[in-house]
Amino acid sequence: MAAEYALGIDVGGTKIYAGVVNLTTGKVVATARKRTHPERGADFFAERLQVVAAAALDNAKLNGNGKVAAIGIGLAGQVDRARGLLLGAPNLASDVVDMPIRDLLAGRFHLPVVLGNDVEIGAYGEQHYGAARDSQSFVCVFVGTGVGGAIVSDGALWRGATGTAGEIGHTVVQYGGRLCGCGGRGHLEAYASRTAITRVLLAELARGRTSKLSELHKPDELIIRSKVLARCEEAGDELVLDILTEAGDYLGAGLGSLATLVNPQRIVVGGGVIEATRTVFARAKLRAPEVALPTPGRALEIVRTALGDDSGIIGAAWMAGHQA
Ligand SMILES: [Zn+2]
Repeated sequence: MAAEYALGIDVGGTKIYAGVVNLTTGKVVATARKRTHPERGADFFAERLQVVAAAALDNAKLNGNGKVAAIGIGLAGQVDRARGLLLGAPNLASDVVDMPIRDLLAGRFHLPVVLGNDVEIGAYGEQHYGAARDSQSFVCVFVGTGVGGAIVSDGALWRGATGTAGEIGHTVVQYGGRLCGCGGRGHLEAYASRTAITRVLLAELARGRTSKLSELHKPDELIIRSKVLARCEEAGDELVLDILTEAGDYLGAGLGSLATLVNPQRIVVGGGVIEATRTVFARAKLRAPEVALPTPGRALEIVRTALGDDSGIIGAAWMAGHQA
């Protein structure tokens, strides 16, 4: 029997990443990716999404040795799953309002399409093929442009009353602290995300602190790329190590509070900042049990994602295969 595949698409503020995935094994057979460029607007975004999806399907070259059954897509924005709409997504394109993503992709590729958000697809990937395969109660936390979270309880995603459960990035780690992208103050995302790390590093450079960063970071880029952070960390750059350490301590505070409140077996941590650097994960793992209550703190396992950058596309493909 020919194998069954699905196309998974992971849409974040930095990149649009698509992959054709074997639904039996979870193996990725072909991928395509492009930068998102949120500053270029909704029309550019809609076009680029289709280009990346088409490229991944082309690259798979299945030629009759199996077929792609459905498309799953997770977006870093507010989605209406039932109507297949991207309601709004400041991190993807500021002028997106009720974009009909499902109809757009279904019309172009003639396949059923399932919509979700970027965090839930990451959690599905780790749950079914990754670091949480043997765990029924776990939390996934992704640290990238923002900080997102998904809570899985007894095997099912816990969505909450308004479908927004798991938003750990917008819990308070410093009352009255730094302004967050959402307008709130002192939220974890304002301390531990790539956006926060970038803001603090650029401010420190402007104040005259010296760092390898001044050679590696292009001033016209809005974010400091993960690769650049990684090279500075490897070189032992004092400024970058200071700021990554601070970000990791705050992340640990957030994870520790989460452990006390939710009492998961495991917290699976991933996302661009975690994949690229060592310091943030190491500090968070150290700090979380210190701030949690002793019993849930001792029982807590904090691990990295097993699928790395691919958790999202693999989870989106799983979602397409099981919910289309
Ligand atoms: Zn916030």
